[in-house]
Amino acid sequence: MITVLKKDTTDAQMQTLIDWLKGQSIDVHISRGAEYTVLGLIGDTSRVDMDLIASLEIVDSVKAVSEPFKQCSRKFHPEDTVIEIGDSTTNRVKIGGGHFAVIAGPCSVETEEQVLQVARAVKAAGATLLRGGAFKPRTSPYDFQGLKADGIELLLEAKKETGMPIVTEIMNAAHLPLFEDVDLIQVGARNMQNFELLKELGKIKKPILLKRGLSATMKELLMSAEYIMAGGNEQVSLCERGIRTYETYTRNTLDLSAVSMLHELSHLPVIVDPSHATGVKTLVAPMAQAAVACGCDGLMIEVHNDPKNALCDGAQSLTPEQFSLTMEKITKIRDVVVSI
Ligand code: PEP
Ligand code: MN
Repeated sequence: MITVLKKDTTDAQMQTLIDWLKGQSIDVHISRGAEYTVLGLIGDTSRVDMDLIASLEIVDSVKAVSEPFKQCSRKFHPEDTVIEIGDSTTNRVKIGGGHFAVIAGPCSVETEEQVLQVARAVKAAGATLLRGGAFKPRTSPYDFQGLKADGIELLLEAKKETGMPIVTEIMNAAHLPLFEDVDLIQVGARNMQNFELLKELGKIKKPILLKRGLSATMKELLMSAEYIMAGGNEQVSLCERGIRTYETYTRNTLDLSAVSMLHELSHLPVIVDPSHATGVKTLVAPMAQAAVACGCDGLMIEVHNDPKNALCDGAQSLTPEQFSLTMEKITKIRDVVVSI
């Protein structure tokens, strides 16, 4: 971090600032120019309040030269992180570092028949993990809120039958005991900055899928990953699921530049969810192909056995047949990506 002092700063004022910084274990390199004095802050500046320094009377400007995230930063961990998902009762699935995974299943778990039918179909088409919402973050309190604990039970039944690891969303840390046998815990877009939830997930030893918030910058997404990792849980995958823009034909705007940018900034795997990113079923396959082409580590796609009667997100859900065709396309694109 670089701090430029105002022209009329006295030596005594400068020394007071330096002493305060040293008290926070920050070393200071002083560089005196003809006009300005510049302080180079050396050490772990991630804990230094940049805005507070900028607000000091003697400070002209402050500039960060390193990112505020460390654990998820590629600078501190150049190799890709590979996340292993599944337990002794399932197939093991790897994501990241060249391992590609496809998560598929309904938006919400509705009935036993629905989740089992979809699980069998997506597995046959090549998906490696089964998704399904049990606790649903719905915009309206009058909409279907999910089957909750019963929904997780139905996912566990499908896991037992198919051997697919299961993915489902947590909304409240108090529900963690219900997630004991869930293989990958999803933090949805609306909870990306639920810092108390993130801190609790940092204390467990289970992979986390962290979705980008509706209006979150990539830096904010990485800072949220940092919350989980700072607690000791390093098994975090990031998920680009579209961000809110002025566009109305699509539910959100898929930011594919995030795949490459997050790969540059971080060693964590990046998954793309073209279903929530577009909200339109005909756009899911083309956006999935584009996401694979730009190097994502996995996809999350909503599939329903009867989309017209789905209790949630029917408009963006693929039928098992449409999902199977999508898998054929993305497999071809993936083959090209690994060969170039
Ligand atoms: C979901 O995956 O079911 C979901 C609610 O997604 P998001 O948090 O991205 O809106
Ligand atoms: Mn959904």
